[in-house]
Amino acid sequence: MKTQIRNKKSQKKEIKLPKKLVYFFGGGKAEGNEAMKNLLGGKGANLAEMAGHSDLRLPVPPGFTITTDVCTYYWANNRKYPAQLKSEVEKNLKRVEELTGRKFGDPKNPLLVSVRSGARKSMPGMMETILNVGLTTKTIPGFIELTNNPRFVWDSYRRLIMMYADVVMEKAAGIEPEDNMGIRKQLDRMLDEKKKEKGVKNDTELSAEDLKELSEKFKVRIKEVLGKEFPDDHEKQLWGAIGAVFASWNGKRAVAYRKIEGIPDEWGTAVNVQTMVFGNMGDDSATGVAFTRNPATGENKFYGEFLLNAQGEDVVAGIRTPNPINDDSKNEHSKNLKTLKELMPDVYNQLDDIRNRLEKHYRDMLDIEFTIEKGKLYMLQCRVGKRNGFAAVKMALDMLKEKMIKKEEAVLRVSPSQLDELLHPILDPKDESTKKPVASGLPAGPGGAVGRIVLTANDAVEWVKRGEKVILVREETNPEDIEGMRAAEGILTARGGMTSHAALVARGWGKCCIVGASQVHIDLKNKKIKMGDKEFSEGDWITLNGTKGNVYEGKIKMLGAGENILLKEFLKICNSTRKLGVRTNADTPEDAQKARDFGAEGIGLFRIEHMFYGKNSDEPLFKLRKMIVSKTKEERVKSLNELFPYMKKDIKDTLRVMKGLPVTIRLIDPPLHEFVPHNEEKLKALANDLGISFEELNKRAESLRESNPMMGHRGVRLGITYPEITEIQTRAIFEASAELIKEGIKVYPEIMIPVVSHEKEVEFIIPIIKSVYDEVIKKTGVKKIDYAIGTMIEVPRACLIADKLAQTMEFFSFGTNDLTQMGFGYSRDDSGVFLKEYVEKKILPADPFQTIDQEGIGEFIEITVERGRKVRKNLKIGICGEQGGEPASVEFCHKAGLNYVSCSPFRVPIAILSAAQAQVKAQSKK
Ligand code: PEP
Ligand code: MG
Repeated sequence: MKTQIRNKKSQKKEIKLPKKLVYFFGGGKAEGNEAMKNLLGGKGANLAEMAGHSDLRLPVPPGFTITTDVCTYYWANNRKYPAQLKSEVEKNLKRVEELTGRKFGDPKNPLLVSVRSGARKSMPGMMETILNVGLTTKTIPGFIELTNNPRFVWDSYRRLIMMYADVVMEKAAGIEPEDNMGIRKQLDRMLDEKKKEKGVKNDTELSAEDLKELSEKFKVRIKEVLGKEFPDDHEKQLWGAIGAVFASWNGKRAVAYRKIEGIPDEWGTAVNVQTMVFGNMGDDSATGVAFTRNPATGENKFYGEFLLNAQGEDVVAGIRTPNPINDDSKNEHSKNLKTLKELMPDVYNQLDDIRNRLEKHYRDMLDIEFTIEKGKLYMLQCRVGKRNGFAAVKMALDMLKEKMIKKEEAVLRVSPSQLDELLHPILDPKDESTKKPVASGLPAGPGGAVGRIVLTANDAVEWVKRGEKVILVREETNPEDIEGMRAAEGILTARGGMTSHAALVARGWGKCCIVGASQVHIDLKNKKIKMGDKEFSEGDWITLNGTKGNVYEGKIKMLGAGENILLKEFLKICNSTRKLGVRTNADTPEDAQKARDFGAEGIGLFRIEHMFYGKNSDEPLFKLRKMIVSKTKEERVKSLNELFPYMKKDIKDTLRVMKGLPVTIRLIDPPLHEFVPHNEEKLKALANDLGISFEELNKRAESLRESNPMMGHRGVRLGITYPEITEIQTRAIFEASAELIKEGIKVYPEIMIPVVSHEKEVEFIIPIIKSVYDEVIKKTGVKKIDYAIGTMIEVPRACLIADKLAQTMEFFSFGTNDLTQMGFGYSRDDSGVFLKEYVEKKILPADPFQTIDQEGIGEFIEITVERGRKVRKNLKIGICGEQGGEPASVEFCHKAGLNYVSCSPFRVPIAILSAAQAQVKAQSKK
């Protein structure tokens, strides 16, 4: 699939442009700086910083950046440029010419430039680059004379033709060729044929004559396929390239990437025009990519790869196996290759020095691109490097220890989704040790993945839609596969290095990924792959170990995220930073323990009814059903008494694990008919036990049916109509507590009343709780049990009468699942059907059941907090709806002044981090 420019109807919009549209850098000076990313894009801003900042003044080839404003203007004005752009570009080109002593388009002493994209946030490989712009039949002879290297010049020329035809003449023109028939692919095949014809393996072995001949053939093919001549004019080339970069902002893959990463369409890209330096001038030239620390492990070791006699595109495209820059960068494929340190020790030392200066200056791990032209080092790019979750945590902790950053910065250095990666499953080492890998490659994205083989990105998306788990297996790393990569459990490629696009993107997402597995041979036509001597078909199961780089046949057992010392250390820092409490929603002692291990400070929601769903629930459920279908109070009390020991045991086990931390136990909430069995056998057993006929039982079950159960006989309403249900639960809570106190174990139960909408409801329940308390104290002989009574806030009316509720209630807990349901009037069980489309059509910015709707439901929360605390200053307020573990919602809760959030055990670390980040952000705003 080729990039297609989105058919945007450009409506003429008035865009007010500032005077300055182009920013110069070079010669130790720069008009921009790192802080100007919005205007200059990440690449442009950092080029300016490297070139012009007094601490750095690195060897950056001179050039200029056309601002993102121009991109916005271009798309709003039918793909036209602002009038003053041309003269500004000319003026800046002149400055470059003065600094380099060369002239653009000059037959004797020609300047060549690169034209590159660069948005505010890095979008690796999603937009376009054109190198060697300015080579024409007019400038080629002079350039050959100048460099005394015809082979190099013809190699540069054939590259320009290939890139230009692909990017400018095909993609930017919106042409969408058949699969494998894109112009780039066609020219690549011609290059391969040439190599075959000459009996050579690498393009570096082709002679000047070969490349010259090839270039001529390329031009003919381009005319045939695209119906246009490749432009033999330097000006045309430059403006064609600039336009194509702007156009690539709305290319299919850039649009898809933005959607996934949540990058706004309005940002636009900048265009960087920069003096070409050449890594393809011979074996004293090279091009490479490096990270100031290892982006996969986080270790403080310089890590990078380079290719001799090559241009930048070769490294990212993974065409040849790159050499390591030093021993620390060696891997399975490159362990026998020479390092930069060995081949060019002076250049390596210079690069290492730059690495240290850059880290000191930016105080972060950077991803850098460099070129060596005839033994001279140039810096082409630097940006804060993408890293996986494990590396992010390690680097944050290390940099804190190195005193490079402060605690607050360390907390901001790890995103909630990166932390999530540390909680992800890995392969069971025991099971793995019994299997032999069928292939191995570079460990580009850690963790494990099990799935069925698919061979195209489209198939990955389709299969996942059908509910399949897939591993996307591709020949090479191609950013056009972005959606398929996202959908797959894991990614496996036959070619490419650790810095290839697929590796970068997968690492950024924390997705399991192996690249450069050279034993993988793909037969796309027959949908088969061979790994070593084993053959696999599409749909076969394989397993990846992205931490080691191993591929296995079939499925290997996965293990959940285990104890992680780094995670603990990092969470400690977050804990010492945050103000907002973090609790967990847990209904079993096991979950409670897991959450405590992660750092939960209590249980924010123990749903009492969950003991009737899970493991070993058959017996208590049977008793509960008896209670539900009871007709008289006597019948009901009898069943409740049978139920009592089960309830008490569950509550006691959980209170025991929490050792005096608050445990919010919610009284039974769901509509009772949910528990009535549908299965005839079960109904009969129930009738038998109750001593009534099957018909009678059916009648009773039928009478419980409701047409709108979520708004029906549930929550506190049950406790009011059947006070004995409230009573028995309370008794279970207090007796369990008393027994634990006698054992010397601390307890702090908080009894929570659900679905309240009127203060009289809680006023009805309180005396029941109090009288049971007195009875239990008397019966058990314990002196006292510390406890609290509070209510859920999940009905909009409850928010408005928060002041009245706060008169009697000691705590509030927002049930934002129901509050969202009732606030929007969207059924929480049925809204999946339309909410997805609502988000796609931008009716809503996000699904409000996942992240709090801050504008609407958020206001209910704010009103409640204000009214509640007016009456009871120290009213404890938390949230226990699903949104309680979602980062943006956690930040909102912090701002709204809540005491804690409560979420499922596995989200506790995320909530801890988000709470710490909310605190740091709020502080920095002050
Ligand atoms: C809620 O409504 O947000 C809540 C936590 O309760 P439940 O999901 O059990 O209705
Ligand atoms: Mg609820």
